[in-house]
Amino acid sequence: MSGNFAITNEGTLAVALAELEAHLGEVMKEVRRLRALARSLEEENQRLRTIMIAEQAGEGGYQSLLRFYEEGFHVCPPHFARVRDGEGCLFCLSFLEKKKGMPSHG
Ligand SMILES: [Zn+2]
Repeated sequence: MSGNFAITNEGTLAVALAELEAHLGEVMKEVRRLRALARSLEEENQRLRTIMIAEQAGEGGYQSLLRFYEEGFHVCPPHFARVRDGEGCLFCLSFLEKKKGMPSHG
């Protein structure tokens, strides 16, 4: 994208507006493309986070899950590894409570 709209003295306002509209159309197309890209990256990120948390939870058990919860992620099965948006989650808390009672290593 050049970003130059090249409005000159010869060009009428109508022409300038038509050009601007064409550019806007391109920009909107780009916005849609980037939005789709952002969504696919977020999905990929979510997948990787799920794998990472599941692996570390397997190793460290309760302590790892508690740390992820405190860092702002769900550790409960229904929303596993999703961002909590700063809200408490009853599923997470009861899941952690259950985990707490289990020995993490043997
Ligand atoms: Zn949760």
